[in-house]
Amino acid sequence: MAERKRIGVIGFLHESNTFISMPTTYESFQNDWLLEGDKFRQGMSGAHHETTGFFAALDDNIDEFEAVPIMLARAVPYGTITADAYSRIVDHILLRLKHAGPLDGLLAAPHGATVSAQQPDADGYWLSEVRKIIGPDVPMIATLDPHGNLSQKMANACDGMISYRSNPHLDQLQVGRQAAELLFETLRGKVTPVMAVATPPIAINIQKQETSHEPCLSLYQLANQQLTDKSVLTNSIMLGFPYSDVEEMGAAFIVVTDNDQAKAKTLVAQLEAYLFEHRQAFQADLESVEQTVAKCGQLEGPICLLDMGDNTGGGSPADSTILLHECQRQELTNTFVCLYDPAVVQDLQTNDVGDVVQISVGAKTDRLHGTSWKGEVELLGKYDGKFFEPQPRHGGATDCDQGDTVVVRHASGLTIMVTSKRQPPFSLQQLTSFNVDPIAFHILITKGVNAPIAAYQPVCREIIRANTAGVTTADMSQLDYKHRRRPLYPFEEIYQE
Ligand SMILES: [Zn+2]
Repeated sequence: MAERKRIGVIGFLHESNTFISMPTTYESFQNDWLLEGDKFRQGMSGAHHETTGFFAALDDNIDEFEAVPIMLARAVPYGTITADAYSRIVDHILLRLKHAGPLDGLLAAPHGATVSAQQPDADGYWLSEVRKIIGPDVPMIATLDPHGNLSQKMANACDGMISYRSNPHLDQLQVGRQAAELLFETLRGKVTPVMAVATPPIAINIQKQETSHEPCLSLYQLANQQLTDKSVLTNSIMLGFPYSDVEEMGAAFIVVTDNDQAKAKTLVAQLEAYLFEHRQAFQADLESVEQTVAKCGQLEGPICLLDMGDNTGGGSPADSTILLHECQRQELTNTFVCLYDPAVVQDLQTNDVGDVVQISVGAKTDRLHGTSWKGEVELLGKYDGKFFEPQPRHGGATDCDQGDTVVVRHASGLTIMVTSKRQPPFSLQQLTSFNVDPIAFHILITKGVNAPIAAYQPVCREIIRANTAGVTTADMSQLDYKHRRRPLYPFEEIYQE
């Protein structure tokens, strides 16, 4: 057997919301995924993550390639990563990479919207440092979350980049496999990837980022059309992450061809021109919370009422009470909400199921997400907060842990799940595992914009988005940007060159 080629695998993913005052710390990574060597590989087996896809493709080609798992670090989306946590993780990745011995290729999984206190372009920095160690000739292919903000530095460090094509992200594993296949074909000498990127000065509103609906649908159809040309190896649409206040915030496009730079440039320009022409369609249509909740009163349930201002998957605190208060005010009390409030969970540990207690829950992280909800409730259940999601869901995780959890009910019917860790609502198992029946409710307040849809669509008659205030507000005019580029549509008008 010929000597196998050695392929390094690294993942470092965080969606950093720079508008939230609380930082993401080293402990935040310890609480999620911080795995190295074989533990990284074993830990991701059976998940639906892009790194799972890397290892699956490597296993399928085990005669030719040897997987060299370096390290995986991920934390739940939240504030900017502290300088200390970021350098600790990057130093460790680089040290392990140096000790891994010579590599023939590298598979990397950055997120694209990672920001540290010291490195605003945190993905660009660590990818460049990896490039310095492996040298200019070892091919590196990276995957991206389309919620990343692409920088030239990130692109310069890689030979090819591919982002997931669906939002909610249900194709992460598949995109990981695709990236690995591209690397394998490169190492076999079958293709020579060359990449062109475009970063049009346009921000796409989060409300318009569901890929199976317009205006995204037509844009993705155009991108799919480009793939019918055999010299196009892959292309990607970066929808952008509006909650990272960094220079490169906004949409971006990537086209990778087989050694045809001119074609890559032409095709990336085609995508850019399409977005420019249709830029207005990618902006939000917003109405008041009062109007949106009133509309829910007219519709048949269950309704998935999406709390855009408290989008946990976008880094928000998961404790906004704005919709809970408004539903109660409009007497729509057959409503469920999940709130992050470790103090309440702690307080109720000494109570028994069936006890009636007074609580003050939610809106404790900052002053942007309403006021605490106060009332007398019955304790329905106490749980360890661990659940399992067998299906591919946004984020690609299967084993979930929201920490100690309680479920309480107000006499009006309002039902509140309280968690001690922030858990984005990507799985219906989050409810059913703790004896909450989603179809028993008229309204399920869900803290997200697009990511929860895969989980909630099967049980909800309606998906309604509410324009709530908060660190992930869909009303981008409410965000105080200091670092974004200017001009940037829709904040400033732009003109075709
Ligand atoms: Zn994403």
